[in-house]
Amino acid sequence: MFWQKDIETISRRALEELQLIRLKQTVRQAYKNIPFYKESFSKLHIAPKDITSLKDIQKLPFTTREDLREHYPFGMLAVPKEQVIRLHTSSGTTGKPKAIFFSKKDVDRAAELIARCLIMTGIKKDDVLQNMMTYGLFTGALVMHYGAEKVGVLVIPAGPGNTKRQIALMQDFRTTTLHVTPSYALYLASVIHNEGLDPKKDLFLRRAYMGSEPYSEETRIKIETSLGIDVYNSYGLSEMNGPGVAFECMEKNGMHLWEDNFIMELIDPDTGEKVPAGEKGELVLTTLYREAMPILRYRTRDIVTIIPGKCRCGRTHRRISRIIGRSDDMIIIRGVNIFPQQIERVLMGIKAVAQNYQIVLEAYDQMTVRVEISRNLFDGKVDHLVNLQNEITEKLRSEILVKPKVELLEPGALPVSEGKATRVIDKRTL
Ligand code: ADP
Ligand code: ZN
Repeated sequence: MFWQKDIETISRRALEELQLIRLKQTVRQAYKNIPFYKESFSKLHIAPKDITSLKDIQKLPFTTREDLREHYPFGMLAVPKEQVIRLHTSSGTTGKPKAIFFSKKDVDRAAELIARCLIMTGIKKDDVLQNMMTYGLFTGALVMHYGAEKVGVLVIPAGPGNTKRQIALMQDFRTTTLHVTPSYALYLASVIHNEGLDPKKDLFLRRAYMGSEPYSEETRIKIETSLGIDVYNSYGLSEMNGPGVAFECMEKNGMHLWEDNFIMELIDPDTGEKVPAGEKGELVLTTLYREAMPILRYRTRDIVTIIPGKCRCGRTHRRISRIIGRSDDMIIIRGVNIFPQQIERVLMGIKAVAQNYQIVLEAYDQMTVRVEISRNLFDGKVDHLVNLQNEITEKLRSEILVKPKVELLEPGALPVSEGKATRVIDKRTL
């Protein structure tokens, strides 16, 4: 099933022709209307006319988060204010936020991309989507909401939290589809089971769209088996509309990135050079089809690989892997580079581990992994706990090559997050 079959299955050649036309337009528009770009072009001694092929994108300046922050609030806007109909800000953790503007066309185009994503997973008009992302300044909930409405499914704007009410909504309105963060999905699944519900019998769930923070294949499997559903990975960032940048099809093997709307490059985060084909690198995105706020070569900080070969679903837009990590949340312990997702993958592969964990970095490069385990392991037999603690420590050590301290906790001991989970607590900088 396709939403826009022609464009989703377009030949690579036609796609590249379209990309070049749109890239030239975008560059002209950015240069003409955004002083920041005009200045960066002149520093690099380039002008829009120097872009004559897709390769020439490498001549263009990068745009960083700091650039967006520096030009907050209106500095990156390319149209008169009266053409803007929506503002979002990014959930940036420190300093000024980033303002993201949408014109009427931008709102509609973002919804079109979501519609492609949803149809790609087999959703139909009689499906019911419970949107558990935070409504408000974040893009996550609203962009999905508009896209789902475009498809014509019933959207329940539940927002996150209030888990018992979520479950009641799911029962009363026969929710088939969830839009949820992985950390909340794990919590939700545990509450459903604790309430004595059998998701396969007592609920109507078929699928979940899960994204906005990194998670591993093990977490996907944990949620799929615990709720009896298919989980599709969903990738996006506010700077590029929010959700709908890349999404998994029913093959569940990498996320198709909509290349008629975005040009992707993979670079070495340290040198800025293009990485060789097949290698992992930082995803850099250029908008191709945005009116209010074109962005050139945006450094996402997200590390991915491109999945080689054609997808069996027939879509020609290339697929990116699960996000391997963010170049800026890499932990360095005794000189070893570690991504929190490596730790998550190990933990979620161990049956006794419940849904929540936390990584605490302490002085002298000591790392403690605090992990909630199933309640029935606190049966008074200390050797059960010691064995489990040793097993977890050993498995982590062989994955990350550093021996962490492992602390076992009862379920519920760690704070539950409704939005993005805070997994790493760095006390070294406090
Ligand atoms: P912020 O960068 O301030 O957190 P966003 O809320 O826009 O702003 O978050 C976008 C980021 O969330 C992405 O750059 C990426 O790191 C992360 N993210 C989004 N979707 C996924 C996903 N499916 N898997 C892993 N990480 C994701
Ligand atoms: Zn596919």
